[in-house]
Amino acid sequence: MAFDIEMIKEVYKNLPSKVEAARKLAGRPLTLTEKILYAHLAEALPAKPFERQKSYVDFKPDRVAMQDATAQMALLQFMQAGRPKVAVPSTVHCDHLIQAKVGAVEDLKTAEDKNKEVYDFLASVSNKYGIGFWKPGAGIIHQVILENYAFPGGLMIGTDSHTVNAGGLGMIAIGVGGADACDVMAGLAWELKFPKLIGVKLTGKLSGWTSSKDIILKVAGILTVKGGTNAILEYFGTGADSLSCTGKGTICNMGAEIGATTSLFCYDNKMSDYLKGTSRTDIAVAADKVIEHLRGDKEVYESSSKYFDEVIEIDLSTLEPHINGPFTPDLAWPISKFAAAVKENGWPAKLEVGLIGSCTNSSYEDITRAASVAKQATDAGLKTNSEFTITPGSEMVRFTVERDGYLDTFEKMGGVVLANACGPCIGQWARHSNDPNRKNSILTSYNRNFAKRNDGNPNTHAFVASPEITTALALAGDLTFNPLTDFLTNAKGEKVKLKEPQGIELPIKGFAVEDAGYQAPAADGRNLTVNVSPTSDRLQLLDPFSAWEGIDLKGLKLLIKAKGKCTTDHISMAGPWLKYRGHLDNISNNMLIGAVNFFNEKTDNVKNQLTGAYESVPKVQRDYKAKGIGSIVVGDENYGEGSSREHAAMEPRFLGVRAVLVKSFARIHETNLKKQGMLALTFANKADYDKIMEDDSIDITGLTSFAPGTPLTLVLNHADGSNDTIKVNHTYNQQQIEWFKAGGALNIIRANVKT
Ligand code: SF4
Repeated sequence: MAFDIEMIKEVYKNLPSKVEAARKLAGRPLTLTEKILYAHLAEALPAKPFERQKSYVDFKPDRVAMQDATAQMALLQFMQAGRPKVAVPSTVHCDHLIQAKVGAVEDLKTAEDKNKEVYDFLASVSNKYGIGFWKPGAGIIHQVILENYAFPGGLMIGTDSHTVNAGGLGMIAIGVGGADACDVMAGLAWELKFPKLIGVKLTGKLSGWTSSKDIILKVAGILTVKGGTNAILEYFGTGADSLSCTGKGTICNMGAEIGATTSLFCYDNKMSDYLKGTSRTDIAVAADKVIEHLRGDKEVYESSSKYFDEVIEIDLSTLEPHINGPFTPDLAWPISKFAAAVKENGWPAKLEVGLIGSCTNSSYEDITRAASVAKQATDAGLKTNSEFTITPGSEMVRFTVERDGYLDTFEKMGGVVLANACGPCIGQWARHSNDPNRKNSILTSYNRNFAKRNDGNPNTHAFVASPEITTALALAGDLTFNPLTDFLTNAKGEKVKLKEPQGIELPIKGFAVEDAGYQAPAADGRNLTVNVSPTSDRLQLLDPFSAWEGIDLKGLKLLIKAKGKCTTDHISMAGPWLKYRGHLDNISNNMLIGAVNFFNEKTDNVKNQLTGAYESVPKVQRDYKAKGIGSIVVGDENYGEGSSREHAAMEPRFLGVRAVLVKSFARIHETNLKKQGMLALTFANKADYDKIMEDDSIDITGLTSFAPGTPLTLVLNHADGSNDTIKVNHTYNQQQIEWFKAGGALNIIRANVKT
């Protein structure tokens, strides 16, 4: 599981000169975010500084992290690249597929049986291609990354939105789709729109019941779920330096809830202590030597409004504990106002379940603070009045807190320890409920609380708070309980006032673990095979897509003219389909089933031009494919917005759609289509959308002289024998045109590896 110290030393060796060059280019002091980004450019420094929220920039990340659900398609694609091993250090973490039902041991065993073929595939593909593999039960991706791989000044991408957690160790860590992860593992650069920068100045010091979680709950209330879009949040100030490293991780983790690209903190003593406490003293020593480059320039923080696009200031000394929700993480309530809000809004005051832990809040500090509340309660003869669960973030934390007696404390209070996995946080929760129609409340120390997220029940009001506040409210069984002011009553009728929680940042006896759950890859995996059963309905090896024929595309059938919003969810639905995310053929049966057909306003109901019948979109497309007929999808504005799910581009490609023609694209989806060797085109004149008829056969001409900046021509052959000729634009650069010609970017990579 060893981190790559030589790689990190190399980053630090080059950092001073790269930062200096970037500072010279900018002609001003730099934020930490700018230092790290400029130090990770894939190409030479540009002639002038990048424009925030305008420039698209290619970067070279240091690491790739993948969770088990998203890793499947990323790695199936990577296998197509033809490389003997990954180009950058990468890891896979089995955490998302474990359902919480009874308790850690039984639940893990059930998951191992149920997901065996997926785990076997991920273990074997990791072993072959030099990827570190963290088995089911080893822990949640972001906690494991923080404990083992994150390092100050690094750049990481991960196939999960809470990859941003690693900002707690001063790393720029960003959640991406599987296609991006595949590219980086295959040795390509990774593109990001240069972000806007939001500075968060923290003054004062936390005390009493208030914790790091309350800082991000407060920030979420200020910025709302959209306020961080295309922005990186950089935390600074004396308050920032006073927070534990894992507390910083919690804050960065939940930055995903405000839509932030990522968040990060400057390198400081707390990070150094955490690195040393997690057996990475050599990184701390190396980082200490370049500390001035692992923090933003002093002038930036002294005159922050000059260098950040927006600055928020929070005084930690006056910050109250917060509870956010229900149904959205930005509905922020200081605890002194929360009980009244519960009553006024008619939210169910009875707290049915309190859940602590997850990748957001299961550090040693979190567990010890929550356990200090639990211990006082049991000493005073109290037990939990709600169901209460604890999800450790990693086996290392679990083993250590068990050794130190804290799990025992929770169990005495009436708590149940769940597997070291996502479980209820991602809806993998067989909740014990006698009536799913009853309005009910739960409180978690997780990060997301959108409707149905935890238990699939729209009647569940989910709130988010720190582990210690969650523990206190679970003891009361009452959302209106305020541990700062209120009393509990024990079985003897005595009044009990909980004292402020006490936490320990790092274990006094050090961390310990017997089996961390790590499998190192083979030194040379060239002769190893990857385990995929040919009869599996969850996994399927990919075949390379075929290259362009070298001629114009004639006689393409219109598959669907989509009307209005068509997100990647409309193109490739989630929900029950997710179990097929490693099986392209099976998941393609959801292709465009959410899109509205312009001609009849129905979803998943389009005309099969060969039979005249109205049938489901995938069925019609499979008919065209079987007969060797290409097709075209037409769409409206911002086609493909939403998640960066690569399936939305792979499915049409797999089923034989040749082009997607829209009024405008969401950029990530447009790029994904290009990577798969598709034609992503836009109407030169948006009104031409109206010329597309239901029975059109369409010719795309100009492909033999396909060139950057030169429009293509479409001939719309209508059923009545008439036709229209229209111009369509594209944004292909020369390299992307080569992708189209080769049948996809991976075909080019593979060809280059062979030569
Ligand atoms: S614990 Fe929750 S937020 Fe964290 S990785 Fe798992 S599902 Fe995502």
